[in-house]
Amino acid sequence: MLRVEYREGLYLPDLDLWLDANGSRERCVISHAHSDHTAEHKSIIATPETARIYRHRCDREGKTNVEALAYGERRDYGRFALTLYPAGHCLGSAQVLIEADNERVVYTGDYKLRSNVVAETANIILCDTLIMESTFGDPHFKFPPQVAVAERLYAAVDRAFSDERVPIVLAYALGKSQEALELLLRRKYRVTLHGSIWYMTEIYRELGIKFSGDYEKYDRAKLEGKVLITPPSSRKQSMVANIARRSTILLTGWAMHKSAPYMYKDVDLLLPLSDHADYDELVRTARESGAYRIITMHGAPKFAALLREQGFNAEHLAHHPGGAKTKKQPTKRASTAIPQSLFD
Ligand SMILES: [Zn+2]
Repeated sequence: MLRVEYREGLYLPDLDLWLDANGSRERCVISHAHSDHTAEHKSIIATPETARIYRHRCDREGKTNVEALAYGERRDYGRFALTLYPAGHCLGSAQVLIEADNERVVYTGDYKLRSNVVAETANIILCDTLIMESTFGDPHFKFPPQVAVAERLYAAVDRAFSDERVPIVLAYALGKSQEALELLLRRKYRVTLHGSIWYMTEIYRELGIKFSGDYEKYDRAKLEGKVLITPPSSRKQSMVANIARRSTILLTGWAMHKSAPYMYKDVDLLLPLSDHADYDELVRTARESGAYRIITMHGAPKFAALLREQGFNAEHLAHHPGGAKTKKQPTKRASTAIPQSLFD
């Protein structure tokens, strides 16, 4: 069995292979371009979409060598072969299949099995070893169907308009914003985007995503009658704070956490629109992958313990680098805490 380690990134020492490392490496596989999965590397292996977004976010000068690998294309690297498959998390996000020594290792990266209105849908890949994210690996994270969440979003937007408030949707710039945008455009709302989101959305269009309507870049003078989509961090900045009559809606899977109403007291509505797998999807992935070894990461150790109780051979590898800081090593039953940075 191939050894799997976490050293500021996922590392397979037998193959000298890095995935989603947090610091610079000679060569690294990037599952998707969220900042907690990227760094400035000499060379990256990624889907063409992730490579494009990586260039925008981490490599404006074009110094990084890119080995682009389209979904389903198997590439032989001598000691091992790599194939990338859709992860359903954001445009270009990939699950990574590593084949070496007659072993199939799958690293899910961040993923969800539910459909994504602006990215390819993920499938479960058969493997021997499954390295899986477990951000929401707690049974109380059962996300409602997307259509139900979308209806609540539309109702909240309508309420804001009828109350003469600006509906402000808080969603991070890569992935969640474009899902929210497409859901709003399907209902014919007029939408304006924070600059960082507008730029990312233009990249989505450049990469072939067709949205169901037009959208605009934020202009304070032209806010009337529009929904504003802006990153969660901007809600305390002047751009949002200066909109006196506003109604804020935060889209995050953490909406289902018992601490969320206290943590996000300043937000008017929390909606569980997530681009991660929920508990049932995680367990389904573990089961249907057929893996005899499961390694969990990017979440609380509790999920691996829950899998073991269900008969899986599961072990927790490491905490999410952006996760909540704890002074001592948490116990195996420690509950999931809401991370400080909101990528979920
Ligand atoms: Zn992510």
